[in-house]
Amino acid sequence: MIIPNVNALSDDQLKEVTDILTAYGCKVMVIKGAERCVYAIVGDERNDDMVTKIEGLPYINRVDRIQSPHKLMDIRSSLATHRVKMGGIVLGTEPFFCAGPCTIDPKNPNLTIETAHAVKEAGAHALRGGVWKPRTNPYSYQGDAKALLVLMEASRQTGLPVDTEVMDEEHLRLAIEAGVHCLQVGARNALNYSLLRQIGEAIASRDVCVLLKRGMHLGSAQEFISAAEYIVQLGNPNVILCPRGTQPALDGYRNHPDESIVPLLKERTWAPVVVDPSHSVGKAAYVPAAALAAIAYGADGLCIECNVHPGKGIGDDPKQAVTPEALRRIIAQTRELWRITRGE
Ligand code: PEP
Ligand code: MN
Repeated sequence: MIIPNVNALSDDQLKEVTDILTAYGCKVMVIKGAERCVYAIVGDERNDDMVTKIEGLPYINRVDRIQSPHKLMDIRSSLATHRVKMGGIVLGTEPFFCAGPCTIDPKNPNLTIETAHAVKEAGAHALRGGVWKPRTNPYSYQGDAKALLVLMEASRQTGLPVDTEVMDEEHLRLAIEAGVHCLQVGARNALNYSLLRQIGEAIASRDVCVLLKRGMHLGSAQEFISAAEYIVQLGNPNVILCPRGTQPALDGYRNHPDESIVPLLKERTWAPVVVDPSHSVGKAAYVPAAALAAIAYGADGLCIECNVHPGKGIGDDPKQAVTPEALRRIIAQTRELWRITRGE
C-alpha cells in the first residue's frame, strides 16, 4: 500500500507511480476514502527494487507491506481511518439502526410505506426491505422487481436510505439504476466471489455502500473479512460487516446467534459491524435480548426486521419481525447500553 504525503496524488504523480509498478508487473488501485485516497498495489508487492523506487518519489511517504490476507480491511491498513456513513450517521460514533420488513409485498405497497414511516418514527436511520429473496423452497415467493418501486417510494417519502439484497447482475443493475443506497449481500451469497467482484466493480465510483452478511456456515473471521476485501479492493471502501447467526442452529433458535464474533472482527478490521439479531434468533420475542447482546459485544449498530403488522407481512415477518413499539424500546435500551459501555 502506497502512502503519499498528500491526501491524493495528482494525475501526473499517479502516472509516474503507475509506470514504475507496471515495469514490475503490478497495478495500482485507487481507493477513495472519506478524507484521503489510498493506493493499493495489485500484484506482488514484495519486490524491493520497486518499493525503493516508489519510496524515492518526493511526494511518497512510505510503502506499507502489510502481511495480511486482507491488507485493505486490516486494522493496520491506512484505510483504518476511513469511516462509513449512512443515514446521517458516521458509523462507530453513535448506534446505527436499520429496520424494515423482511420482504416487500408488491401487492400490498401500503404495508411497506406505513412500516417505513413507523421505523423512522421509532428512530431508525435506514430502511431495509427485500425486493428479491433467496428462498430455501423454490416454490416460495421469490421477489419481484416491482417491489423496488415500492422501496424507493418509501425512501422518497421518509428520506431514509434503503438497503436491499441483490443476488445477481440483473438485480445489481436494477438496484443501482433505482438509486438504492446500500446493497445487501445475503448469507447464502456471502462467499459468492464473482458476485462480490461484480458489486465491487459496479460501486467503485458510486456513493453506495454494501451490507455484507456473514455466511451461514460458521466460517472464520478471516474468511468473512476477506469477502469484504473482494469488494473494497475494487475501489469503494464503504462495506459494513453483518453477523446474522450461523448453522448449526442453537436448539429452538433459527440459527446460532454469533454476535460474540464482534470483538474479534473489531480487533482485526476497521470495518463497521452491524449485527442482524432477527435472522440470528428467528423469533420476534428473542430479538430484543439479541440486540442488546450485540451492542454489549461492541457492534456499531443493528439491522432489525420490523413490520407494522408482522402477521400481514410475507417472508420472515410473521415469525421474526418486531413491531415498531418493540423497535422503539430496542433503540432506547441499546442507546442506554451504548452510553454505559462506551462511557458517553
Ligand atoms: C434477509 O435479510 O431477509 C435475509 C434473507 O438475510 P440472510 O441472508 O441473512 O438470511
Ligand atoms: Mn428475512
